[in-house]
Amino acid sequence: MAALAPITHFDVCNGLVIEKPQAEQLVAQFGSPLMVLDCDLIRTQYRALQSALPNVDLHYALKPLPHPAVVTTLLAEGAYFDLATNGEVDLVQSVGVPSERTIQTHPIKRDIDISHALAYGCNVFVVDNLNEVEKFEKYKDQVELLVRVSFPNPEVLADLSKKFGCLPEDAVTLIQHAFELGIRIKGLSFHVGSQTKSGVKYADAISKCHHIMMAVINAGLPALSTLDIGGGFPVKYTPEVPNIADFCAPIRDALAKLPETVRVIAEPGRFIVATAVTNIASVMGQAVRGGKTWYYLDDGLYGSFSGLMFDEAKYQIDSALTTGERFMSVLAGPTCDSIDVIREEIMLPKLENGDLIISTMMGAYTSCTATDFNFFKRATTVVLNETAVNELIVSA
Ligand SMILES: *Cc1c(COP(=O)(O)O)cnc(C)c1O
Repeated sequence: MAALAPITHFDVCNGLVIEKPQAEQLVAQFGSPLMVLDCDLIRTQYRALQSALPNVDLHYALKPLPHPAVVTTLLAEGAYFDLATNGEVDLVQSVGVPSERTIQTHPIKRDIDISHALAYGCNVFVVDNLNEVEKFEKYKDQVELLVRVSFPNPEVLADLSKKFGCLPEDAVTLIQHAFELGIRIKGLSFHVGSQTKSGVKYADAISKCHHIMMAVINAGLPALSTLDIGGGFPVKYTPEVPNIADFCAPIRDALAKLPETVRVIAEPGRFIVATAVTNIASVMGQAVRGGKTWYYLDDGLYGSFSGLMFDEAKYQIDSALTTGERFMSVLAGPTCDSIDVIREEIMLPKLENGDLIISTMMGAYTSCTATDFNFFKRATTVVLNETAVNELIVSA
């Protein structure tokens, strides 16, 4: 633990901004590359989404950044948690999250996954087909299930409805089967896809789920009490992404039409964490090739920038040097693989070896998909403001 000069300013839309002296101080203290996680921005994002979706219980989906500091920060904010794997169960358990604040939402599970979550005390699970429902027959006195419904969204980067979810027209039959097996179905869930472009996608899915809920009652089955509207809330990688309050306006309108007895929950991942992490990497070496200077960093596509392959997110990448003439340059990662190039074309000042590159908006789907290919060590995470707002404590 060490005291650190205050981060001078940050811009919620564009992520944590770290100035050159501060970046140099962090690298001197903790080495390079770094992922700097500011828990104050986790709080800011959580509160922004909560005020955009009042009366919706936000379950942070651990998948984009499964870090204990994020979990403890959100727990103190009153958040709930969306778990998908045994590792995520172990993480929330290790930091003391009460199990009744969690749900397990992986649509396809082994028996060991079900029993592991149950042993912790998490007893809400997601299913999307009869084979999966039948896995719960032996646990029927302990569990309540959500049925995941598929609403395809071909325009998003990750259309999760391709891989998971039952067709809306098959939902009632599936619920009927579960009922016959004596298994309680608590409600419906969906995920419209990550970094979704318009809140209207959710509004459409909510109204279709409302129809399914009415059809369930008409079929003489017990009424559903929960609607889980999933994750997918977008962050401003680019300026045209709307702010979250505006984005959620159609969602609020659609939710207002549901019966008041329905508890609405959501599973935000990216929105909560994307802005909170800034990457600091160092120039290892340089060469002029084809008239352009190539700068080789100590972090790259097989490390913190893996999202450039898996996620296509648009990080904001710049030199810590803000002055000086700029030249068209290439920014490459450290490994010996030719695809390990972060930017083919980027305007940068003339850099020396050891100079720093600072990239913002790197909290979601970055370090969690990093590898240590070629034995290049993954970036060290440095946590700021973990315990309380404005407390200047760092823990590596
Ligand atoms: C990945 C995932 C999330 C989080 O999605 P974001 O786009 O990061 O908000 C939520 N729920 C489920 C089931 C997921 O698989």
